[in-house]
Amino acid sequence: MTILISKEKLMGFKSLEELWVLTSESFSDRILSYEEIHYILFLCRGIWHYQNPEKPTADFPHARIGDICFDGYAQIDKALAYNRLRHIFTDQLYRMLRNDHRSLHIDRVITSNSATSIMHAGQDICRMIGKGCQLGTTKIDETGAAVWDGKMTKAAYVLQLGRQIFDLTEDRKALRAVNPDQSFAPVSLVMTHMGPMTSLEGVPFITLLHMPNVRTYPSSECPYCKVGSPTHDPRFSQGWFNLKG
Ligand SMILES: [Zn+2]
Repeated sequence: MTILISKEKLMGFKSLEELWVLTSESFSDRILSYEEIHYILFLCRGIWHYQNPEKPTADFPHARIGDICFDGYAQIDKALAYNRLRHIFTDQLYRMLRNDHRSLHIDRVITSNSATSIMHAGQDICRMIGKGCQLGTTKIDETGAAVWDGKMTKAAYVLQLGRQIFDLTEDRKALRAVNPDQSFAPVSLVMTHMGPMTSLEGVPFITLLHMPNVRTYPSSECPYCKVGSPTHDPRFSQGWFNLKG
């Protein structure tokens, strides 16, 4: 018998180990709130905030991805690394997708091979879509850019999955470099989103965790860069380690 886990019960867990009673069935009656996803990730040590955002200093580093700086970050890989939590998260994303787009046809799920965890999440989503749905992954070239070397018919209907919106824009650019007329589903999936809610080419995306209070800046206008705070890319383990200390 499946035991449903309420928000109250989940928010009462005190350690990572307590999460091991959870399965995707634990939440089969509901969609988890951003607050609950944030709390799970907090227990996985996957949440970082700049120590004193009102007083930027060179003593503390901040996060930067591409040309955008952040004063907070949710490192979803810290949770996706656990099969159990990944299954919960992908089940939730898939159900949100189907709530909004019940009969949307999808041939391919495209994600990046930059992290094993997001590839496995892509496989989960493909399995739930079923039929002939296949996973495709972009690769990272020696310059750090995403490239697509797979073959795809132009009629293939593509759903994108990323850790954050930056991944989606990079992967989309890589696909279009090979197939300029590539069509995309009228929705995308991202694990986390920080800063104000936005869209991808005017099309909304579905996210597990939105952190609207995280401040983002173009690096040329970043108050942390201005005082000499070092930057680290939080997507990679060394960068994350440098931020978290
Ligand atoms: Zn900066």
